[in-house]
Amino acid sequence: MLKLTDVSVRYGSFEALHRASMQIGEGELIVLLGANGAGKSTIFRTISGLMKPSSGTIEFMGRRINNMSPDKIVQSGIAQCPEGRKLFSGMSVLKNLTLGAYIHRKDKVSFEKTLQWVFELFPILYEKREQAAGSLSGGQQQMVAIGRALMARPKLLLLDEPSVGLAPLVVQSMFDTIKEINQQGTSVMLAEQNAYAALQIAHRGYVIEEGRIVLEGTSEMLNGNEEVRKAYIGA
Ligand code: ATP
Repeated sequence: MLKLTDVSVRYGSFEALHRASMQIGEGELIVLLGANGAGKSTIFRTISGLMKPSSGTIEFMGRRINNMSPDKIVQSGIAQCPEGRKLFSGMSVLKNLTLGAYIHRKDKVSFEKTLQWVFELFPILYEKREQAAGSLSGGQQQMVAIGRALMARPKLLLLDEPSVGLAPLVVQSMFDTIKEINQQGTSVMLAEQNAYAALQIAHRGYVIEEGRIVLEGTSEMLNGNEEVRKAYIGA
């Protein structure tokens, strides 16, 4: 459903991504593995239309999207949950979730249905819906950020480092929910430094080093790869 072909991206004279090619099929859960600064967030920003590639093409559901505006890209079915959550911390949980549904704001019935789905995935958010997002724990704030992206009812969800700063038990339950979101029909592209947890739930993955895709394969293959284990799993 999503296909990047030879995509390069520059910040001024610095090339942060060099001729990256990757694809994600309908229903797939893909992980991007890479150290700090490898280029994972750059890939997400480029797919979302926040950065324009200096060369290459991005197609989504058979249409070229690399010249579309970010809001048109959300409308076409791609929603991003950015690194660092970027919540409106003084606003309530409900208000934050509502902001994620802005492209469907005229469709009240589907808004309510989607909100109910998000509350089913993250029941604690229903209990805390009137509280300021900034007063929640880190894990709960991450749930709000994922929930807000889901409110756009994406076909493809981009999750940038959802486990950063969370306790191991919280990470585990977060990954269980990401797997469930995928199993319910949303394709997921996940950038993670926590390779061990990510490879437990992903179908396939790509390894990025200094802006280049250096390896791709099934999760089993990456899990069994000695270089990957040394660099990202630590075993
Ligand atoms: P992290 O997990 O730290 O976010 P990442 O893999 O997502 O890492 P990117 O944020 O995509 O990495 O950054 C890729 C490279 O581009 C890095 O060398 C980074 O310093 C550089 N970079 C990122 N944003 C900018 C920017 N706005 N201006 C200049 N260089 C940038």
